[in-house]
Amino acid sequence: MTGEPENHSCPNCGGRLHAGVATIPFILSEEKVIVIKGVPSEICGDCREPFMNGKVADDIMALLKLSFLPPPKPREKPA
Ligand SMILES: [Zn+2]
Repeated sequence: MTGEPENHSCPNCGGRLHAGVATIPFILSEEKVIVIKGVPSEICGDCREPFMNGKVADDIMALLKLSFLPPPKPREKPA
């Protein structure tokens, strides 16, 4: 354990944030929206807005890139 819990409050409304999982839509373009379920987030108890931390956001961006940019060539694994 490292230190005390941070005093997290909602940037929108100042409500209290609680750790949880959220279903978050990511807008890729005007016509493409991807919804990811079970995203670890802090969720505002008042306005229900979910907030991801930076690490989670990075992971999701990586996931989105993998999903939408197929690998250029199948690569053989070295034996
Ligand atoms: Zn809020």
